[in-house]
Amino acid sequence: MNARKTLKINEKGHLEIGGADTVELAAQFGTPLYVFDEQHIRDMMRVYKRTIETEYSGNGMVLYASKAFSCMAMYSIAKSEGIGVDVVSGGELYTALKAGFPAQKVYMHGNNKLESELRYALDNKIGTIVVDSFSEADIIEKLAEERGVEQNVLIRINPGVEAHTHAYIQTARTDSKFGFSVSDGMAEKITAHVLGKKHLKLEGYHCHIGSQIFEKQSFVLAADKVMDFIAEVKGKLGFEAEVLNIGGGFGVWYNDEDPQLEVSDYADYLKTLIGAVIEKSSALGVKKPYLLIEPGRSIVGEAGITLYTVGAIKDIPGIRKYVAIDGGMFDNPRYALYQSKYTVLLANRAAEKCTERVSVSGKCCESGDLIAVDVPLPKAERGDIMAVLTTGAYNYSMASNYNRNFVPPAVLVKDGKADLIIKPQTYEDLVRNDIIPERLK
Ligand SMILES: *Cc1c(COP(=O)(O)O)cnc(C)c1O
Repeated sequence: MNARKTLKINEKGHLEIGGADTVELAAQFGTPLYVFDEQHIRDMMRVYKRTIETEYSGNGMVLYASKAFSCMAMYSIAKSEGIGVDVVSGGELYTALKAGFPAQKVYMHGNNKLESELRYALDNKIGTIVVDSFSEADIIEKLAEERGVEQNVLIRINPGVEAHTHAYIQTARTDSKFGFSVSDGMAEKITAHVLGKKHLKLEGYHCHIGSQIFEKQSFVLAADKVMDFIAEVKGKLGFEAEVLNIGGGFGVWYNDEDPQLEVSDYADYLKTLIGAVIEKSSALGVKKPYLLIEPGRSIVGEAGITLYTVGAIKDIPGIRKYVAIDGGMFDNPRYALYQSKYTVLLANRAAEKCTERVSVSGKCCESGDLIAVDVPLPKAERGDIMAVLTTGAYNYSMASNYNRNFVPPAVLVKDGKADLIIKPQTYEDLVRNDIIPERLK
């Protein structure tokens, strides 16, 4: 079971999240339903914010990587916690602004930001843009000049560290659509290019070494490499970076192969990273940079669960048993995309022992539409409520209307009370943008 304190089994044997009975939530709002625990989201934002305050004299900021779960309520929570956000499209920026999020605390990423997105960002006085190509720097310069402003920018670099879960590798050259490699000199070239622009204010560098990382050393190594580069650029170009954005990537618990971290463990990750930055900056004789971190998954991943209703059950003798749910790859494509593993339980019979192994299939016309394969479960029956844990990050944000299924609604739970934060879709929503040209009528 999940380590989070808000997930528990109540006296009825029902799964509870944030003080709310999931069986009641399913009855009230229907299924499939995304459920988010507000307290956990806030706890995670706070643990990072406090650690920067206590370990680094507040010389930095937490940015919620909003691609993990972007909706107006999330930006409202981030705003009330006094943190920043990063966005990766005009749509995410629009959502943030619509929620009243301060533009100055928005950072914009993307390997191919559209000119229209950049124009929208500058028109709304976005805080910082993370430059990811030479031509993009030229476009931002032009747009900033037209508006008579100076735009703050960072440059995304590849320090040659790639981390995945429990392992990290050091690479000489990074084959990635993102950023500029340090090792082949491109990071230095783009620095000189940006420094030559009158309307760009280069504040420093950004890197993001991967996701679902548990290895502390990965972050330390990345910080080390970027600090080396900062010192090198200071020597060669006379530019001393003020800002270091070390990206996101802190891992979360999905199933029993993952460690169960407590909220305080994330403070340790950040503390280790900060220690490395402090040590390295004094060793190199460069300024201690203003530190940005961009956690997405670790803020919202374990805060979310998805509730489904069990439907058809198909037992293929000697092969496997499929338990079908009323959701699938349209609300959670991560198994289909990456064979991601999830923990599944019956929310209405959460205290019962698991007696069999089943595969949980979605309702899409696609054999690969699975949510979990060979997972333990009590003997499920049509009408049971199934909960899939740790679906807060990269589920709703990756959802689609495949097969013209509805993207499920979402509720935010606090102290046992649930508020709708994403409305259910209707059939009318599905055809809202459809047009039958006159000649087809
Ligand atoms: C995806 C992403 C993040 C967030 O990563 P998590 O693994 O969700 O913490 C942060 N920064 C950048 C640039 C990203 O692309």
